Amino acid sequence: MVFIAKSPILRIPERSYHFQRSGLYSLLSETAANESMSTHWRGFAVAGIGTARSNERKRMDNPFMARAIQLSLDNVFSGQGGPFGAVIVKDGNIIAEGVNRVTVTNDPTAHAEVVAIRGACAQLKSFALKDCEIYTSCEPCPMCLGAIYWAQLSRIHFGNLAADAAKVGFDDSFIYREFAQPLPQRKIPMLQMMREQALAAFHAWQEKPNKIPY
Ligand SMILES: [Zn+2]
Repeated sequence: MVFIAKSPILRIPERSYHFQRSGLYSLLSETAANESMSTHWRGFAVAGIGTARSNERKRMDNPFMARAIQLSLDNVFSGQGGPFGAVIVKDGNIIAEGVNRVTVTNDPTAHAEVVAIRGACAQLKSFALKDCEIYTSCEPCPMCLGAIYWAQLSRIHFGNLAADAAKVGFDDSFIYREFAQPLPQRKIPMLQMMREQALAAFHAWQEKPNKIPY
């Protein structure tokens, strides 16, 4: 089933919109008042601000992000999981939606982005989402970012920041710090063994004539 994108249910509060807009207006008048700027560069800057304003409007009123945010809010009130939602879009349509389902399914990998990726792959009957974009209510955690790269999504749009998530108890910065540590210094011990035996599957894969590469 293909979901057609709905009009945004959640509206960005007027106050933050005006704040953003007034920020752009003040930038514009500051640029116009800059007498030392050449005509060429002044025109370039104003044109650039016009584009920036247009992009800003898109960023403030995007139906796909609005849907991801709505999903994140609904998930809080339904008690199904954490405050996260994501949608995957192909050719202007939402083809899959995901919400955080960690606690309700006892699955620590059931983050909104992963749930959405699984749904989109099932929908398209493909392990690659090359022509799809993901809209997620929060900046992806390291696991979801990895999943997004494996799924080969073409673009990532995110709403609130990892730093915002950290403030409400979802701090994934420790994972990045762990990645930077040498193996012996990581909190979860990583113990290497039986390399030669484990390489057998790689040798078999290399020699397999009818494999599906990915
Ligand atoms: Zn995640």
